[in-house]
Amino acid sequence: MSRTRFFAALVGLLTAFTLAAPSTATADTQQTLVRTIYYDSSRAAELTSTVEDAVKIWNAGVTSVKLVKGSGGITITTAQNGSAPGTASCVGCTRGQIYFYRNQITSSGASSLRVVVHEFGHILSLNHPSDIGNCAKVMAGGRCQNAQPSSAELAAVQRFWTGRIAAPAPAPHEHAVFA
Ligand SMILES: [Zn+2]
Repeated sequence: MSRTRFFAALVGLLTAFTLAAPSTATADTQQTLVRTIYYDSSRAAELTSTVEDAVKIWNAGVTSVKLVKGSGGITITTAQNGSAPGTASCVGCTRGQIYFYRNQITSSGASSLRVVVHEFGHILSLNHPSDIGNCAKVMAGGRCQNAQPSSAELAAVQRFWTGRIAAPAPAPHEHAVFA
């Protein structure tokens, strides 16, 4: 084989290998992908550390999605007066807004950590259950202190984000329960 033909064959071999490689890599990536949702708590005011605690609770409970501090995702704002302790702009989404309202958190009788965990629960795909006021579920509202999601709530979030490559379309969310 001449030197030129040898290089042509070598290049051909490398090209074939390079073309074959991406599909294998993509398949591996899809199986192990952990969806990242960025959150910006720079306007969470006195709830900033509570937001960190809520993030730790969710990140410890699920592996298919991870909440990471950063911009371009969910912005968190604490304001004085609103119609509910908290609101989330979407359910099962990677971009949106969470608002917390001081007057409503105070009067709700729920722990502020439970309220924050609840709003992240919406972002992570959860809606309100039918048994409103059940303290064992963070999505059930109520005058409760428990901020630990139930095993069923964690499993639902885990299922929703497993294998989810593209962000789902944001769904409008009318917030009534944590009120
Ligand atoms: Zn809610």
